[in-house]
Amino acid sequence: MPAQLIKGAEVSKQIREEITKEVEELKEKHGITPGLATILVGEDPGSKVYVGQKEKACNNLGIYSARTDLPADTSEADLLDLVKKLNDDPKIHGILCQLPLPKHVDATRVIYAIDPDKDVDCFHPVNVGKLMIGKGRFLPCTPNGIMELLKRYDVATEGKHVVVVGRSNIVGKPIANLMLQRSPGGNATVTLCHTGTKDLAAFTKMADILIVAIGQPKAITADMVKEGVVVIDVGVNRIGKTPEGKGILAGDVDFDSVQEKAAAITPVPGGVGPMTITMLMKNTVEAAKATISD
Ligand code: NDP
Repeated sequence: MPAQLIKGAEVSKQIREEITKEVEELKEKHGITPGLATILVGEDPGSKVYVGQKEKACNNLGIYSARTDLPADTSEADLLDLVKKLNDDPKIHGILCQLPLPKHVDATRVIYAIDPDKDVDCFHPVNVGKLMIGKGRFLPCTPNGIMELLKRYDVATEGKHVVVVGRSNIVGKPIANLMLQRSPGGNATVTLCHTGTKDLAAFTKMADILIVAIGQPKAITADMVKEGVVVIDVGVNRIGKTPEGKGILAGDVDFDSVQEKAAAITPVPGGVGPMTITMLMKNTVEAAKATISD
């Protein structure tokens, strides 16, 4: 039987309605309008699309959006100056510098310069450290989106074997960490796989919940999973164009074959993707709430 679809687009819509109400309440009761600053350096088409989507989401939810587009040859010093100004700006509660940055800029230095209280991407080491010890104020957007999907589809994690494939700092490592925290939505036994893993299929076959973030189209096939697995496919891979010139996307999981064995699965597109920006909006609102003085 085909798997139940975990529809991130629908859950995202639901959460955005909740966020809109929270934003209205913040404005009415506290006179605070949550504000997100986005910084785009250069002309990368993908980055432009992402920043545009974030700006649009802010506008739709009543969040103040301050976007700065800078030329590709912007110096690191100028970028750090801008970050400092935004750190000091009380209208701004979240700062997001779209990655990747041009090669002459040290992205790490820029991320470290963002005030951890405004680090709504949760990339600053202070926030990464807090996440590790289970005290995170912000949770990174894609992993947090995955947690919300599992929660809202009543997928129990406690005592389950969660296998994560991919160990990036923005997806693999943080989701593995969240899954092993002794807290609701976690308390799982976690295995983290990567390119150094020998016999990947031996691990993926053991998964009750399989989370894949590797950037390899359709790499996880039906013979690599067990019956009844819940599959979260984070991958977004452009695999061609339709005759009309529209981009075709595929996940890291071979959806057609795996859905025949899985109990539930996220589609690509419409699964994890829509959740990421929504959780960014949620973090911005959380950052604004944290400025309320008692
Ligand atoms: P990275 O390229 O930063 O990391 C990929 C990870 O996957 C690495 O740890 C790498 O291992 C591992 N890996 C790659 N190939 C294999 C393989 N064949 N077997 C086992 N492990 C492998 O990717 P990201 O985490 O940034 O992104 C992963 C995917 O998720 C991409 O398709 C990206 O577009 C998508 N994505 C989607 C988001 C969304 O909102 N839906 C948000 C972020 C990412 P090693 O460390 O050994 O090199």
